[in-house]
Amino acid sequence: MSARVLVADDIPANRKLLQAKLNHEYYSVSMASNGEEAVNMARATHPDIILLDVMMPVMNGFEACEILKSDPDTQHIPIVMVTALGDREHRLKGLSAGADDFLTKPVDDFALLTRVRALTKYKLVLDELRSREANGRRMGVIDGEDPRTNTNPANILIVDDNERQARRIKLSLSEQHNPIMMQEAGGIAGTQNGIDLVILSLASKSFDPLRICAHFKSSPQTKDLPILAVGDVDAEATGMRALELGASDIIMRPIDTEELAARVKTQVRKKRYLDAMRRRLDASMELAITDQLTGLFNRRHMVNQLNQFLKRANHGDGPLSIFIADIDHFKRVNDTYGHDVGDEVLKEFASRIQENVRPSDIPCRQGGEEFIVIMPNTTADLANAVAERVRRHVCAQPFEVEQGIERLDVTVSVGVATTLEAGESVDDLMKRADLALYEAKESGRNQVVSRAA
Ligand code: GH3
Ligand code: MG
Ligand code: MG
Repeated sequence: MSARVLVADDIPANRKLLQAKLNHEYYSVSMASNGEEAVNMARATHPDIILLDVMMPVMNGFEACEILKSDPDTQHIPIVMVTALGDREHRLKGLSAGADDFLTKPVDDFALLTRVRALTKYKLVLDELRSREANGRRMGVIDGEDPRTNTNPANILIVDDNERQARRIKLSLSEQHNPIMMQEAGGIAGTQNGIDLVILSLASKSFDPLRICAHFKSSPQTKDLPILAVGDVDAEATGMRALELGASDIIMRPIDTEELAARVKTQVRKKRYLDAMRRRLDASMELAITDQLTGLFNRRHMVNQLNQFLKRANHGDGPLSIFIADIDHFKRVNDTYGHDVGDEVLKEFASRIQENVRPSDIPCRQGGEEFIVIMPNTTADLANAVAERVRRHVCAQPFEVEQGIERLDVTVSVGVATTLEAGESVDDLMKRADLALYEAKESGRNQVVSRAA
C-alpha cells in the first residue's frame, strides 16, 4: 500500500536517509526542515503520516506535534516522533504530546516500516469513516464535533503461554486497566466480548500466534479488535508477518513497562475513537431515514423503498401494494386544540398504524397527516384487510391527549392500490392510491377504498 509521508528533520542527511528507505518501499515522501514548515506543509497537503524529529530550530518536534494534534483539520494524521537513542524521556514526552508512536535514531529499517505500515493502515480506515461522515454532514444528518471517547480502564486480553511474562504484563497494566490472562479466561474463545485490546506474544509455543492473529482479524466479531504483538528483535520476519496479518502495533522484548503503557493507551484510544465514529455513523444513518415526530420512516426512505420494491415486483416477485391513510378533518383538531395536540394525535395515529401492520410492511409518514404503508409481496385482498384493520383500530378507541385530559374521536380514510402489470411506475401506483383515497373522502370518510383494477 502506498502512502504519502512527510519527513521533518533539520539535518539534510537524516532526511535523505529516511526518504531513501521510504522510497524503496514505494512511499511518496515530502520533506520539511523544521517544525513550523512541517505544520504548514501538513495543513496544505494532508499527508498520511508524519515523521517528526524532536530537536529542530524555529519550532521543535513536540511543539509541532501539539499544534497538529490540537487542530481538528490535522489531528487525525498519525505522527511518529523520531528521538535520539536511549532518550526515554523524550519518547514518553512525545507520546504525551499526542504523538502516535516514536522511532529511535539511527532509524532501523524494520522499526520504520512496521510503524509506517501500521499507522497508514489505521489512517486508511479512519479516512473511510471520515469521508462517510463528511457525506453525512453534507446531507445534514451529522453535526457537532468529533465523537468524545471515554477514558475508562480498558479490558485487555493477554494471549501468551509464557505464564511468567503474561503475569508481568498483567501486573504492569493492572493499575490503569483490567488485564486478564488467557489462562485465567479459560482459553481464547470465550473471552472476546467486551475486550478492548489483545496483547499477543509472538513467542508462544503451545499455539501458533500468527494463526491466532489471522483468526481474530478474519472473524466479524473481532476484526476491529486491535492486537498489540510482543515480538523479538531476532524474529523480525514474524513481527512483520503479524503486522501484515492485521496486528496494529508491535513492542519488542524486553518489555519497557512505560512503553507498554503508552502503546496500550494509544491503541485503546484509537479503537474507541473508531468505535465512536462507527456508532455515530450508524445513528446518523438511522436519523436520515426516520421521521422525527412519529418515529416512522420518512419520505426519503419511503421513496427509496417504493422504487426498490416496485423493481422487484416488476421482476416477478409477488404484487406490491400500498395504502395512503389520511386523518379525517385533522385541521379541526389543530384549530380547536392547537398544534401541539395535533402533534400528539399524529404520534398516536402513527403508533396505531405500526401496531396493526405486519413486520414486513413499511410504515412511513409521507408528510403532514398523510401516511403511506408499503406492503411488498401483498395481493389487493390482503392489502385491503391490513388497511381495514388500521381503520378500525383508529376509530375503535378515542385518542387520549394532554395527559388524558382530552379524548378525541379520530377517523381515517384510506386508499389502497396494488400493482397491475410489469412496467408500472411508482407514480402510477401512488396516483391510484390517491384516487382511491379521494373516493373514500367523497363517500363519507372513515372508510377504505381499493383500486386494484
Ligand atoms: P380531510 O378529512 O379532507 O383530510 O381534512 P383535513 O382537515 O384532515 O385535511 P387538510 O389537508 O385540509 O388539513 C390538514 C391539516 O394538517 C392542515 C395542517 O395544518 C395540518 N398539519 C400538517 N402537518 C402537521 C403537523 O406536523 N403537525 C400538526 N399539528 N398539524 C399538521
Ligand atoms: Mg386529512
Ligand atoms: Mg391531507
